[in-house]
Amino acid sequence: MPAWPEVRRTDAVMADGRSLAYYDRPGAPPRDGIDVRPPEAADPASQLRRDPLTGEWTIVAGHRQERTFQPTAQETRAQGCPLCPSTPERATEIPATDYQVVVFDNRFPALTRTAAGIETPDERPGIGRCQVVCFTDDHDARLADLDADRVLLIVQAWADSVARLREDPRLVSCLVFENRGADIGVTLTHPHGQVYAYPFLPPREGRLLDAAARHHADTGRILALDVADAEERDAVRLLAATDHWTAHVPRAARWPFEVRITPRRAIASLDGLHADEAAEFAVLYPRLLRALDDAYGVPMPYVAAWHQAPLAGGAPGAQLFLEVFSTRRAPDRLKYLAGSESAAGVWINDIAPERAAAMLREALA
Ligand SMILES: [Zn+2]
Repeated sequence: MPAWPEVRRTDAVMADGRSLAYYDRPGAPPRDGIDVRPPEAADPASQLRRDPLTGEWTIVAGHRQERTFQPTAQETRAQGCPLCPSTPERATEIPATDYQVVVFDNRFPALTRTAAGIETPDERPGIGRCQVVCFTDDHDARLADLDADRVLLIVQAWADSVARLREDPRLVSCLVFENRGADIGVTLTHPHGQVYAYPFLPPREGRLLDAAARHHADTGRILALDVADAEERDAVRLLAATDHWTAHVPRAARWPFEVRITPRRAIASLDGLHADEAAEFAVLYPRLLRALDDAYGVPMPYVAAWHQAPLAGGAPGAQLFLEVFSTRRAPDRLKYLAGSESAAGVWINDIAPERAAAMLREALA
């Protein structure tokens, strides 16, 4: 089996106590910069509240109102981007003059490791972890433009982050995701993603795991792999099929553009990927992202999120796959979640998945 390319991780602590990890290929400069900023009052309180009518948890994090919200072009020029490298004149979140990939605790976290407060069946402290993953120090890049080795380094940083989150038994489920585009509510345009570790199972992950467990009990098989196989045979919504991955538009896609990228092998979590699988993903994924932007010739706002087994494992049939979806339904129009979607949870998709797949295949060609 091919070996993973070497990665050097350097752990650091920011002035206010937050953790930061650099991921570099050998030969990068030492990462020994000091965060010189005055520490701000950190550790804001957030709270989990469960609605007894639905049984679902809400994270109440009032402090996030103060976070950097869509700085204008002038403000960004004046204050600078907090995810760019530091310069002698300006200290940012990353105390280095360049970097490859970094993972650090979010300055405005919805969930923290040290949240405290009252605990009742319907109320708990907002224990968890919210991390930022910077994909490159190039402010103007998009993940779609990064070379395969950088995307592979990002996969290695994701996998390592997931493995480290397993060490905290209070964390139940972890979502590795990227929000891209102002139209989807992104506050910073610097190419970055996030990792959220929740102290409960998010409802959608719960539904995915229930369906996977039922199928596994009935057939001994992995539902997400069976569906990906059927989509590959059917080919109508298929976008790509490589040695280790397939990509298709789901038959019942909820969003105007929606893509599932599934490894061919049964893999529960990101840290279960093999080197050859990750290396192939690092070529395929940027291609698919470029096709999304090319479909209408305007940047697609998107959410990309990995679904995986809970951190403690023990989920029969659970399968790792990446879901990418966009709210864009025309070059100049976005889909908004209105009554049926928001109130009833029933999606209405204005673009037939077969048509979206045809558009994306054309953009891939
Ligand atoms: Zn930047």
